[in-house]
Amino acid sequence: MIVVIKKDADKEKQDRLVDWLKSMGLGIHVSVGEYQTVLGLIGDTSKVDMDLLESLDIVDSVKRVSETFKCVNRKFHPDDSVVEIGSVKVGGGHFCMIAGPCSVETEEQIVTVARAVKAAGANMLRGGAFKPRTSPYDFQGLKAQGLELLKIARAETGLPIVTEIMSADALPLFEDVDLLQVGARNMQNFDLLKELGHFGKPVLLKRGLANTLKELLMSAEYIMASGNEQVILCERGIRTYSDYLRNTLDLAAVPMLHELSHLPVIVDPSHATGIARMVPPMALAAAACGADGIMIEVHNDPIHALCDGAQSLKPEEYAALAKKVQAVREVLA
Ligand code: PEP
Ligand code: MN
Repeated sequence: MIVVIKKDADKEKQDRLVDWLKSMGLGIHVSVGEYQTVLGLIGDTSKVDMDLLESLDIVDSVKRVSETFKCVNRKFHPDDSVVEIGSVKVGGGHFCMIAGPCSVETEEQIVTVARAVKAAGANMLRGGAFKPRTSPYDFQGLKAQGLELLKIARAETGLPIVTEIMSADALPLFEDVDLLQVGARNMQNFDLLKELGHFGKPVLLKRGLANTLKELLMSAEYIMASGNEQVILCERGIRTYSDYLRNTLDLAAVPMLHELSHLPVIVDPSHATGIARMVPPMALAAAACGADGIMIEVHNDPIHALCDGAQSLKPEEYAALAKKVQAVREVLA
């Protein structure tokens, strides 16, 4: 249920209303917007007397929210949420350009790529240290050492670092990571999501290979319900009937997620297509349909990459794409 408070309503009366609702055992999510304040009620609202609430002089309207996702629901928070990763903002008109290799391999590799993508206009550096690989015989990532190399690249360039966490057990290693990624394969690892809710650092939540938008939103709800509002959603392609492409990039998910939720939505055209030459057109399409950012795999030597070389752009290809993305954003503005 949401309770819309009248503009310029008495603050003390608002506080009393919130206390009264809390005394009924409800969780209250307060969203203060430019034009209105919305109280989102979480829990069993069946005993709440809507007529009584509506009769209060500070209350504008009361509505039931039928969706099972509450905190992530745009009805709870009509304005776009802006997630802050250090000085980088994402959402509400702020666009992020995340770039870097699939996995961190060596100091030289990650620092070289970090410098190149920064020069091209990227404002965050990605790189996997803990890699979820389909085969146990494939490169599994440099793990803790990979995180240290990412920090060196951050120190060299000033770019905040984005990297995947696969298990809550590894959380102590991620204290100094700027944006924690939950990969597609872990989207419904509910214990991990709850721990990330308590951890409090910004989270990049990728859509699962075979998950619906509602399931993605419910996973984001796990993080938010555990106390962390800093969540970015990521569309990275789903399994359908793709034969020539790694996945099917569901770009209509972007405007639909924006309609349903206030959270920023970014797109990963690299994992969505699996082919480097497919990345630029899909990145431009993502920018055109209103995504709040794009995450792209870039490698200085794709042919010898230990992971996902076929979908990685070379630094100069990334630089050319970044210019075109900027041009698309200008057309939309
Ligand atoms: C990644 O971004 O490194 C990754 C493994 O992506 P996904 O979880 O979307 O497959
Ligand atoms: Mn990859």
